[in-house]
Amino acid sequence: MSTRTHRACMVCGIILPFKDFVAQGCPNCNSILDFTADDGLVQECTSPSFEGEVALCDAGQSWVAKWLRIDKFQPGIYAVKVNGRLPEDVVEDLGRKGVVYRPRDGSVQD
Ligand SMILES: [Zn+2]
Repeated sequence: MSTRTHRACMVCGIILPFKDFVAQGCPNCNSILDFTADDGLVQECTSPSFEGEVALCDAGQSWVAKWLRIDKFQPGIYAVKVNGRLPEDVVEDLGRKGVVYRPRDGSVQD
């Protein structure tokens, strides 16, 4: 795939073309964070800088999915590490919706 036009969602890590995030939003995060038709928000909440690509097919069976904590997510290509942080106001908004944001840039360890 052409990674130059692709971006990774900072919340769930899914990798999609920028235009897909704008056209459809993130398939996992739509209910908590609606990117649709808001390319400014897509810019802020997705990152062009990511490392590692993991294909998630059958989420329930995949150890990779459990490791990445994406076992409830849609099939797709996910980044192992996403560089960048969500803006503070977005993190607060997620918090109000009961979603705990775990940065995927490797700075948070269990
Ligand atoms: Zn997402």
